[in-house]
Order: sequence, then C-alpha cells, then structure tokens
Amino acid sequence: MRRDQFDAIVIGAGLGGLAAAARLSRAGLKVKVLERHHQVGGYATTFFRDPYEFEVSLHELSGIGTPARPGPLYPTLDALGAARRVRFLPIPHLYRSVAPEHGLDLRIPASRDGALSALLEAFPHERAGLTRLFARLFTIQAEIEAIGALGGSPSVLTALTRFPAVSHAAGTPLSKLLYRELKDPLARLAVGQIWSYFGLPPSRLSLALYAGGLTSYLTHGASYVEGKSQALSNAFAAAIEEAGGELALGDGASRILTRDGRVTGVSTESGERFEAETIVANANPITVAFDLIGREHLPASFLRRLADPEPSLGTVCVYLGLAADRAELGLEDHEVFVNGSADLERQYEETQQLAPPRSFLLTAYNVADPGFSPAGTSVAVLVALSDGRVWQRLAPGDYPALKQRYAEALVEQAGRLYPALPSSIEVLSISTPVTNMRYTGNPAGAIYGFANTPSENPAFRLEQKGPVHGLWFAGAWTRPGGGFEPVISSGVGAADAILEALRASQPAAAAA
Ligand SMILES: Cc1cc2nc3c(=O)[nH]c(=O)nc-3n(C[C@H](O)[C@H](O)[C@H](O)COP(=O)(O)OP(=O)(O)OC[C@H]3O[C@@H](n4cnc5c(N)ncnc54)[C@H](O)[C@@H]3O)c2cc1C
Repeated sequence: MRRDQFDAIVIGAGLGGLAAAARLSRAGLKVKVLERHHQVGGYATTFFRDPYEFEVSLHELSGIGTPARPGPLYPTLDALGAARRVRFLPIPHLYRSVAPEHGLDLRIPASRDGALSALLEAFPHERAGLTRLFARLFTIQAEIEAIGALGGSPSVLTALTRFPAVSHAAGTPLSKLLYRELKDPLARLAVGQIWSYFGLPPSRLSLALYAGGLTSYLTHGASYVEGKSQALSNAFAAAIEEAGGELALGDGASRILTRDGRVTGVSTESGERFEAETIVANANPITVAFDLIGREHLPASFLRRLADPEPSLGTVCVYLGLAADRAELGLEDHEVFVNGSADLERQYEETQQLAPPRSFLLTAYNVADPGFSPAGTSVAVLVALSDGRVWQRLAPGDYPALKQRYAEALVEQAGRLYPALPSSIEVLSISTPVTNMRYTGNPAGAIYGFANTPSENPAFRLEQKGPVHGLWFAGAWTRPGGGFEPVISSGVGAADAILEALRASQPAAAAA
C-alpha cells in the first residue's frame, strides 16, 4: 500500500473518532486520523493558563465502576488499549444539590440505595412516589442492559414484547414520570438535577436516556481521570500509534472525495490528499454533508434528515484558578448544582436568553484529584448551559462585554455559597458556545450533538452507516448520543460495523 493510501481515514480526534481509530488499527487496519486542532480529544482536552491546567469538559465519567466491579466502559477501554494508560479516580458523591432561596442543600451518593435513602430522608412525604420512580428507572435500565446483551438492535416486535418499559420510555419525556410521581418541586429538582447532563428539561428530554444515564451513575458510580480528560485522549492516541495508526494534528479535512456513490479519500486543508475506501467522520454530520461532501453527492432522504436540526445546548464556562487550598475555601464537593430557580423548566428557559442564568454548576476538581493544581491552589469551573444559536445572533462588538457579564454574575453567585472564592481568583478564563464552535466545529457549540428529545433517542438517532458507501459516523450526533461513554461506544460501534462489512465483502480474506 502506498504511503498516502489507508484502509480507513478518521476525520476528527474527538473521543468518538479516537475510539473508532483505536479499534480499527488494533484490528490490523492501516488507519490515519486527521484532526484540525493541535491536540487530540475534541472536548476531551485541557488548556493552560499559567500556572493552571484547566479541564475543558469532563465533570463526571460514567461506566468505569471499581476494580472489583467494573462498569461497562472499563472493559471497552481495556480492549482498546486505553485503560492501562490512565488512572481513574472515584468521585465520592454523585452531586450536591443546592437551592439557597428554597432551603435545599442535599448530597446524593453515587449508589442506588444511598441516593434513595438521602431522598427519602429529605422528602419523607414523597416516599411512595420516590420508591415507584426508582423502581421504574431501574426497570428501564435492566431492559437497556438486556438489549445490550443481545448485541445489536432488536426488531420492533421484539422490542415491544420483550422490552416494554424501554420501548415506552424511548418515546416518552422524563416529565411524564417525574411530575406524575413527585409533587414537591424540590423533590423533582433533586431527582431531575442532572438534566443538564443531557441538555433538555424534563418536559422535552427522553425518559429512556435519563433513566439510562442516572441509573448508570447510581450503579457504577462516577469517576474522574488523573491527568484530566486530556490523559484519556492521549491514552487513545498512544494506543492507536502502538497499533501502527497515524495521527496528523493541525490539519483538517477540507473535502471527502467520492466517485460513483463511494468514498475514495480525503483532501486536507494543507493540500494533502489521502486515499481510503472507508472514512469515519467524527466531525459533525452537518459539516460533513454540506461542506466536506456537498449536497449534490447525497441522497435527498439524508439531506431531509439534517434539515433544520435542533442542536443540543452549548456551555459558558468560567475557569477559575484559585490561590488557596480547596479546604480553605470550603470546597468539599466535586459537583455542585446551584439552583437559582427550583423549576427545571424555568432553568432551561434561562438557557435560551443572553442574560446570565441563575442556575449553574460548580465543579471543584481538587476534591476528586488533590493533585489537580499546584500545591496551595485549587481550581473551580462554573458552567452555565446556554443555547449557542442565541450567541450566534449577537453583534460581534457585544461579545466581550457579555462574556464579562456572565463571569461576574456566576462568580458573584458562587461567592454567596463560598464567600472566600471571589477574592482568591488568580486566573479567570471564559469560554462560550462560540468557543466550542471554534475549537470543535460543532454547530451552535452543541456539546451532545442533536438535542436529546424522545425522537433523537438512541434507537432513532442518526445511524453509524452513512449515506454514501464507505462513509461512517462516530460521535455525539450519532448513536447512541453525546457524553464521554456514549461517544466512545459510538466509535466502537462504527468500527465493529466496518469490520463486519469488510468481512462480508472479503469472506476469503477473513477466513484466511
Ligand atoms: C463544558 C462541558 C462539560 C461536559 N461534561 C461532560 C461530563 O461531565 N461527562 C460526559 O460524559 N460528557 C461531558 N461533556 C460532553 C462530552 O464532552 C461530549 O459529548 C463528547 O466529548 C463529544 O465527543 P465527540 O466524539 O462527538 O467529538 P468532539 O469532542 O465534538 O470532537 C470532534 C472533533 O472533530 C474535529 N473536527 C471537526 N471538523 C474537522 C475536520 N474537518 N477535519 C478534522 N477534524 C475535524 C474537531 O476539531 C474535534 O476535535 C461535556 C462537554 C462540555 C463542553
């Protein structure tokens, strides 16, 4: 094979692309990864503001479990050659939920019994509803696991008859269960708190996704990565190179080349050209369709699928380097949800406007990783979800002032909970959905691909197999959805489907 010829080219080194590349290269394929940014990871990355290294995205990693009881992600990372290169750190509590104006301050442990006990103690009047709700969520999870064990999607008939709870949940919003079982707004808030991990309020969020996500954390716990999410991305890169794969950083794909309805290769922004009959796009499908391939080469049904997509929310992050130890600042919890409003629907409405929201997330990384920042310092990141489409309409001249307003408002609110925090700020850096767009190319700076509505649940999401022969998708916009664990499984799913298709087209070679 010539130097510019590959079995597979992966466009984008987000976790979905890295997982696909690791799987394919370890299966013996000659793989090239093209990444536009100067480091691997997509959102799973870090940046430096002396003396701090900041985590761009990861708060809580699902699916790792413990050495004694590994979760579903751990063996996947192990098989890809990534697990042995990183150390996972357990996060003691799943989250702390605070609503200062409503008198709520509750810690939710990362276990089924622990979480239910904490909720029952805080809301004894909701005992029956909480008990039924938990039972329902875990029934859905049991069916999700059973479907996973089948390997592949069941037929509609099998799904409806053997997996009735998940079939129902797939097309149902979380609110149907949450608001039916719980009447106390604070109980709804405490249980629905991680809506922001999915980016839609209960009235619009797929119940199946929420049930799968929350029960996964309550079964396998939440983890952080020593060395930050960059260490995980670097571990994938090392595993790819170890298996003979190539990574090209700082050079994006500018065109996916096609002939007679098949992909033939990629040309890059620096003017290089590589050939491959298989291409995995970790770059979002909207850019892939309209910029990299061109609508004239795509079937109308696929273009209709992408017409008027609803992206998930983006984020405004205020990264704080603090010149004080976390204990001095009273930062006792890794993940703190600060609720200005007790109404989750209202919290979502605030993501649709440009004014800084009253609800946000404070992550204090030194709790899970004491070595996260230099001795005697700590890092906190304040994260507000925000719809990137609103930011796109902003006049460029208004952008710096708005960023500043967000930072001031969020720091002021964090200071009410942690009074010594504002005066300890040594470094402050702000990102917005526009920053997300710039660094990852995701439309509207979306962090979970398409919005997680019931019609974008894992079964209905964009398939891994693309509309042109040899084109595949991996990442948040495709099945099963956004988040670290899902996009890694998306990359592995794409790679397995590719290997299966290759075996089917070359039975003699596969048997040899
Ligand atoms: C602030 C924040 C907090 C988050 N917290 C969590 C969390 O706690 N837990 C969790 O599970 N998830 C979290 N997420 C979500 C998670 O980070 C994402 O869903 C996931 O990382 C997306 O991965 P991806 O594979 O879709 O690729 P992306 O991360 O979107 O990366 C795509 C890559 O493709 C590259 N690319 C695009 N176009 C081209 C091109 N033409 N040529 C070459 N390269 C190209 C981009 O440069 C980028 O590197 C968070 C996200 C953010 C922003």
